[in-house]
Amino acid sequence: MIPVTKPFLPPREEYDRYLDGIWQRNWLTNNGPLVNELELSLKERLGVPHLLFVGNGTIALQLAIKALDLKGEIITTPFSYVATTSSIVWEGCTPVFVDILPDTMCINADLIEAAITPKTSAILATHVYGIPCEVQKIEEIAKKHHLKVIYDAAHAFGVKVDGKSIFEYGDISTCSFHATKIFHTIEGGGVFTQDPQLLKRISFLRNFGHHGPDNFNGVGINGKNSEFHAAMGLSVLPYMKEIQSRKKEQASFYGEQLRDLSVSFPNTKEVEDYNHAYFPILFQEEKGLITSMKALENNGISSRRYFYPGLNSLDYTTGYCPVSDDIASRVLCLPLYHDLTREEQRMVCRILLRVQNH
Ligand SMILES: *Cc1c(COP(=O)(O)O)cnc(C)c1O
Repeated sequence: MIPVTKPFLPPREEYDRYLDGIWQRNWLTNNGPLVNELELSLKERLGVPHLLFVGNGTIALQLAIKALDLKGEIITTPFSYVATTSSIVWEGCTPVFVDILPDTMCINADLIEAAITPKTSAILATHVYGIPCEVQKIEEIAKKHHLKVIYDAAHAFGVKVDGKSIFEYGDISTCSFHATKIFHTIEGGGVFTQDPQLLKRISFLRNFGHHGPDNFNGVGINGKNSEFHAAMGLSVLPYMKEIQSRKKEQASFYGEQLRDLSVSFPNTKEVEDYNHAYFPILFQEEKGLITSMKALENNGISSRRYFYPGLNSLDYTTGYCPVSDDIASRVLCLPLYHDLTREEQRMVCRILLRVQNH
C-alpha cells in the first residue's frame, strides 16, 4: 500500500524529551514556553519578523479576514482547498472567483481588475502547490483600488520570492501546519504580517480578546495551539532540510521516469527554494486521469484529485472559471513523502505508462 502522503514523525525520544518538560512544568497550553520557542525558531528559520502560531490553517485564514475587518466581496481563486473559500463565507463575506493561469494554477492577476466592484474589500489568493502568485501585480492592483491582500500560503513553507520569505507578502499571509503539509505540528497554522499593529490585533483575537484576566479587547475566538503541538513542530523542524532535499530528488526522479507519459507539470522552474510539497500531473483529458487513478488504486497506490471540484462549484458558490474547471478535471497528485522509495516510485510510473500504452 502506497499512500498519497505520509506525515513525517521525528525520532520518538526527541519528542519525548519535550514531553518530559511539559510534565515538569505542568503547563499544557495558553501561550506556553514551547509555543514561544516554536514561534522564535520559525521566525529565525524563515527569516520573518513576526508570526503567530495558531490552532490550524483555517482559523489562521479566519483570523486574517477578521483582523482586517473585511466586508462585502473578496476576490479569490477557485483552485485551492475548500478552506480558502469556506473561511470567506464563514466570516460573512462573498467570494468572487477570478480564473487561474494555466501554467502556475494561481489566480490570473490580469483578470482581477475586471472583477472589482464597489463592494470589493480584498484579494485572497493561494500560492497553489507552493508556486507563488504574481505578488507584484497583485500588490499594484490592491494599492490602486485600496484593497487588502491575504495570501493562503498553506503549501508554501520555505518558499521565497525575490530573496524574501513568501510569508512576507500581502497584508497577511497564512500557513497550515497540518500533518499532511510539508512542515507540520499535527494540527497547527501560522499567521504572518509585517505590521506590528495588525499582529497585536491578531494576538488578541487568537486568545478570546483577553487583555489581562478581566479585560477584553474586542470579540475574540480560541485560535490558540498547545505545548504538545509546538513540541511536535520543534521536533520536526531540524529535519526540514533533509525532508525537502528528499522530496526534491523524488520529484526529479518522477520527472525522468514520466518523460514519455503524455502529461504536463505546473511550471516551478523559476521558484526560489521551491519546496516540492506535492507532485501534481496534468492529464490531457479527464478520461485518462480516471483510468490511471483506478489502475493505481487496483495496485494499492493512492493518488488524489487535489483540487477537485473547483471552489466555484460548491453548493454555496457560483462563478465562471473555465481554465480552473478544466485543470481541476485533469490534475492528479501522485504519492510524495519523505520515505517513499525509488522502487515505489518506479512502480507508480510503470502503472501510469502501462495504462497509457495499452
Ligand atoms: C490545508 C489547507 C488549508 C487548511 O489548513 P488546516 O490546517 O487543515 O486547517 C487551507 N488552505 C489550503 C490551500 C490548504 O491546503
